[in-house]
Amino acid sequence: MSYCTSRFQSIRRRTIEVRAGEVGMGGGNPIRVQSMTTSDTQDVAATVRQAIALAEVGCEIVRVTAPNVAAARCLRDIRAEFSRAGFSRIPLVADIHFLPQAAMEAVEHVEKVRINPGNYADKKRFAVREYTDADYQRELERLHESFTPLVLRAKELGRCLRIGTNHGSLSDRIMNRYGDTPLGMVESALEFLRIAESHGFRQLVLSMKSSNPKVMIQAYRLLVERMETEDMHYPLHLGVTEAGDGEDGRIKSAIGIGSLLLDGLGDTIRVSLTEDSVYEIPVAQAIAARAQSRWAGAARAEVEHSDRIDPHQFSRRVTTPVEWAPALRAGGSDVPRVLVRTTLAQWPAFTAAASSSLLADTPIEGAMVRVESTEELARLRELRSRPATRGPELLALECGTAVDAAALATIAADSAIGRLAFVHSFDATRTPTLAALAARHGHILAVATTPTDIPALAQAVAGLAGLRLIVTLADGALPSAPGHAVGAYRALAESLARAHVSAPLWIRSVPAAAMLADPSFLGRLLEAAMLAGPLFTDGLGDLLSIETEADPVRAAKLTYNVLQGAGVRISKTEFVACPSCGRTLFDLQSTTQRIRAQTGHLKGVKIAIMGCIVNGPGEMADADFGYVGGAPGKINLYVGKTCVQYNVPQADADARLIALIREHGRWVDPAPPSP
Ligand code: SF4
Repeated sequence: MSYCTSRFQSIRRRTIEVRAGEVGMGGGNPIRVQSMTTSDTQDVAATVRQAIALAEVGCEIVRVTAPNVAAARCLRDIRAEFSRAGFSRIPLVADIHFLPQAAMEAVEHVEKVRINPGNYADKKRFAVREYTDADYQRELERLHESFTPLVLRAKELGRCLRIGTNHGSLSDRIMNRYGDTPLGMVESALEFLRIAESHGFRQLVLSMKSSNPKVMIQAYRLLVERMETEDMHYPLHLGVTEAGDGEDGRIKSAIGIGSLLLDGLGDTIRVSLTEDSVYEIPVAQAIAARAQSRWAGAARAEVEHSDRIDPHQFSRRVTTPVEWAPALRAGGSDVPRVLVRTTLAQWPAFTAAASSSLLADTPIEGAMVRVESTEELARLRELRSRPATRGPELLALECGTAVDAAALATIAADSAIGRLAFVHSFDATRTPTLAALAARHGHILAVATTPTDIPALAQAVAGLAGLRLIVTLADGALPSAPGHAVGAYRALAESLARAHVSAPLWIRSVPAAAMLADPSFLGRLLEAAMLAGPLFTDGLGDLLSIETEADPVRAAKLTYNVLQGAGVRISKTEFVACPSCGRTLFDLQSTTQRIRAQTGHLKGVKIAIMGCIVNGPGEMADADFGYVGGAPGKINLYVGKTCVQYNVPQADADARLIALIREHGRWVDPAPPSP
């Protein structure tokens, strides 16, 4: 049983329709975009104001936290005033953790209630205890008893429920049996689903969120597989929790949500950003629009083979590493390499940028340039010969057909040019010539090709001992909807495996039709993240170039940020920051920015900034250090999952966090600013 109809085309998963008031989710409905208010729920006026602001920018479902019964009671007034303001058709969702009583109150007033199966009926005691089958069964019976009243009342009132599982906040029972794993997340939700179904209640939506896109992707895939085997067809709500802010938050969300949508999974989405909620909506809309345009295409009828990726287990595709430049390899166990495209006209500016201190931690590891004539090739050679305009050691060189073969051969033999990668589209005549040239002079052959041409490519390079070969997708192989570039790269990787070609795979985000429709920076960022993210999180990809950016610094930074978002190359501090909600105990946005300014240079350190202790410690997942709201004006500091300092006055908390990082040997002083 596969989790999706196709890994090569975007074909929407069939689900039943679930309705939150007048808004349908799943079935034939468009992807619904939602967000959450961050005000204190008991401040009815502020919460209504935020709900209106969200609705006015296109939010279709508004979630409001109900941390206690008093807050849940306020939902009645919030609903009434929101409707009076003209938004009666926009459903409200109560977000419940821990308190079934709050859920019972909330269900009276709003169209949808979200519960967290990790804490709905279970107090987390973090007790390490073995559950016998009889113990486990007793626990399930207790769960049945606690959840049943909500199910029955929701059924009576025509409400819907979201079973919203979060990585890091699973019950002790589940943790003991399955661990904090995608399987544990899925089992946790299934327990609640079965109880709801036992009462004939099917107005249910499921979510499996995590701050780690890899975990989140695997959990949703597994959930769908398990639901299919139990003949359950509920819509999915997608989100990456604690994605953070700015470019990183958008990239992480596009990777997690985008990967699943491309595979046809997902009916309603939330992009969680540590920013004002209204900024989440255009990002969510843009991600949804990209998926829906692919879903709208008619499925191709030809029989597809499946690929050999295990969708539930991350393992990197095994490749033969290629020496890329002295002390740098592409493929094998090396981190994915970063290439940046430029033009001959821009070469002097490009080389200046490449050597600037702005890119000290995120170096351009290969330059890609196209020359159209022999004269241009000579000009490039001359520029490479001067130290000031030499540029990165690896030069990915694309030659137009007017370039003289003899001139190219002369340059290939010139050791002063550095290492070349001959970039070209597969051609039965040209490829063997370039391959021989590359093999003779120790250069790289970089072939853009299609899955069907792989056997011919394997034949063309057979017998060239020591040839350094890299493969990428030919522009012409990019399919139109419902196919997608991710599917085309998957097909390419599968074809390489069948032909026993272990060449590293180069992923290229190039200007495509979808980008022309939305040429904004956000559009380009989302395209890059939705292409590279799903591939790298499946273990495919050894090089990445984002070729939509004219500015080389921008291009390099974006490429590193996408690799970091996919969790495959860490180049800076990773921040896990919750989006804030009515439980938040300090200003998350300014705190996140302040902490980032002081610790953003700590490559490989993961810092979580969480608004409350109710969910924060669980959901900060695998962070090295945690800064968590403990009480008003008070911060709890964590090392891993252990709270090491309680109730630190907020004014001292930054310094105490930095001291903790030092104590644990993870601090380095920031580089002095460049003159
Ligand atoms: S961790 Fe943040 S978003 Fe989650 S409940 Fe606490 S304050 Fe709200």
